[in-house]
Amino acid sequence: VVVRSVPMLLLILMFSLQLCKAETNMSSILITGSSRGIGLEFVKQLLGHANPPAILIATCRNPDKATELQALAKNNANLHILKLDVLDFDSYDSVVNKTRDIVGNKGLNVLINNAGIHRGMKNSLSLVTAKDLTDVYLTNTAAPILLIKAMRPLLKQAADVNNSAPMGLSRAAIINISSQLGSLTNNNNGGWYEYRESKAALNMAARSLSVELGPEGILVLSVHPGWVQTDMGTSAADLKVHDSVQNMLNVFYNLKPENHGTFVQWDGKPLPW
Ligand code: NDP
Repeated sequence: VVVRSVPMLLLILMFSLQLCKAETNMSSILITGSSRGIGLEFVKQLLGHANPPAILIATCRNPDKATELQALAKNNANLHILKLDVLDFDSYDSVVNKTRDIVGNKGLNVLINNAGIHRGMKNSLSLVTAKDLTDVYLTNTAAPILLIKAMRPLLKQAADVNNSAPMGLSRAAIINISSQLGSLTNNNNGGWYEYRESKAALNMAARSLSVELGPEGILVLSVHPGWVQTDMGTSAADLKVHDSVQNMLNVFYNLKPENHGTFVQWDGKPLPW
């Protein structure tokens, strides 16, 4: 019995070592729009996660007013708060430099583009304005693309440092918080011109990014969080923010190379573009 169990014990030991290795590789995550809603819930649940990131960078446009984030930072040494208004494109280089100072030579493993805006119930053509179209496009589409461009060297650094790991959170990943409203296939109700076009364009960018960044070992995922009870989703939404984020984190922590360049909802179910 002893002779038979020794190889089995060795196998278990090797498997455990692999798990430990996978757990320690994912060292850093940066999230935009962390002051409230889904972004803040990501921060809370990542801090309490069984396998938390060694470094969690929560960005928001008004750190002084982000009282919940500030309170969390007091009790969690791995939480760093950085000021980032995603519309302030000129500040990106400085945010990248501050991120580099925090993550050191390991690079940035995960960028979650979460910050977003929605112009409410204006859902008919007669209500469309040039300002709404451009404002929503700049925040929901241009900003994530330009931030990815700025953060690319840090993401690539993480992908290179962890080049023995498969594509996924342990290596390098970009996660765009998109919306089912950006799905061309699922648009049977029309309306919400500026929001739908902004997320459809973000999805298109994700496809191009997956082609360009895949060879660098950087996984790209578009995710629909569900209709979620936040300021944006309103209290009429069917998903609690806790449940949406818990499910999404489960999807993120289990990302595999085959998830690269895909569009999924909060529970991992594939969505049509
Ligand atoms: P909320 O309106 O509750 O929160 C939006 C967040 O984005 C806030 O933290 C806000 O910061 C931040 N933000 C907005 N503009 C900027 C900016 N210029 N710079 C930095 N941060 C900014 O929305 P949700 O949490 O519900 O939405 C998060 C993401 O999920 C969005 O991308 C949204 O499109 C997407 N989504 C949400 C759904 C839902 O049902 N809730 C459904 C589908 C997708 P501040 O506090 O400073 O305003």
